[in-house]
Amino acid sequence: MGKKNKDYVFDPGTLDYREHIITWQERARRGALFLLGSLLVAIFYLWLYAGVLGLELPKTTFLKKKNAEWGGKMAIMASQMEDCRHRLDALSLRDDGVYRTIFGMTEISQDERLSGLGGINRYTELRASDHSGHLYNNVRELDLLTKMAYVQSKSYDEVDQMARQSGDIAACVPAVPPFYPGIRFRMSSPFGRRSDPLYHYMKMHTGQDFAMDPGNSIYAVGDGTVESVRNELFGYGNSVIINHGFGYKTRYAHLKMILVQPGQKVCRGDCIAQSGNSGKSTGPHLHYEVMYKGNYVNPVNYMDMEIPLDEYAQMVKAREEQTGHSSDLIQPVHKDRKTIHKRK
Ligand SMILES: [Zn+2]
Repeated sequence: MGKKNKDYVFDPGTLDYREHIITWQERARRGALFLLGSLLVAIFYLWLYAGVLGLELPKTTFLKKKNAEWGGKMAIMASQMEDCRHRLDALSLRDDGVYRTIFGMTEISQDERLSGLGGINRYTELRASDHSGHLYNNVRELDLLTKMAYVQSKSYDEVDQMARQSGDIAACVPAVPPFYPGIRFRMSSPFGRRSDPLYHYMKMHTGQDFAMDPGNSIYAVGDGTVESVRNELFGYGNSVIINHGFGYKTRYAHLKMILVQPGQKVCRGDCIAQSGNSGKSTGPHLHYEVMYKGNYVNPVNYMDMEIPLDEYAQMVKAREEQTGHSSDLIQPVHKDRKTIHKRK
């Protein structure tokens, strides 16, 4: 029992201080009061700090700083992804506008490029837990980029394959006449507007006509793939379309006999048909069309009618040796056999 357990209180009755023994109950009461007071002061300061002065607790400051850091990282990611998106957009534009066009392939629609994205409920959960929307947006954008990159790489594979199949552009363009120029022929109806020979109204003539005897060999004018083979009673009659890639297609019409099938790969100089008089025709002739990027162009501007005969014969012979098919239709040019078409 030391001093601590005693207290002195002023007694107004005796006008003196008397000793006062502090009981444990009183001590407990005082302790509780002290604790309560401290608590009140602490609450008061907290209120003053956060509520009145608008200051933050260190923990809040720390978390807010972390949050801002993450937000910043998300924003950087978003801008990087936007950058990727622009690059991918540019690639797809170039893909459709240049590469796929060169090879005469159909463009990939925007819908197709973005298809398979986001089932409606796919992001709902993410969205609910992500109040700022940063994560939701980034995940969505990343999915989109992944899909676009996949479609793009697939398209490049196709273009690559097409390029390999098509080979050199020089081998594909319709650069030679579709028949051996040593035969008897006449350049009849030219490309352009003309009066229809059967119905007498002005009509666009979409190709060049070569009047010739039926049964002459018709040769592919450039490497390519047979796109279609048609047998019509009217119109083009029996006709063949070859897709040469690089935007070029050629059509050979009014044929007597067709020697190729759709999908078949052909090379320049391959015999594909025999000339005839099928379809809407006023006489035996070959109607020959060149299409470039979907438009009819004048075939005369593309083929070299002055190609040396032996060069043409050489080309056909080389192909016959390679394929093992003999068209056997090139006849030696006899001096007395007149070609109506004047050669230099
Ligand atoms: Zn014609």
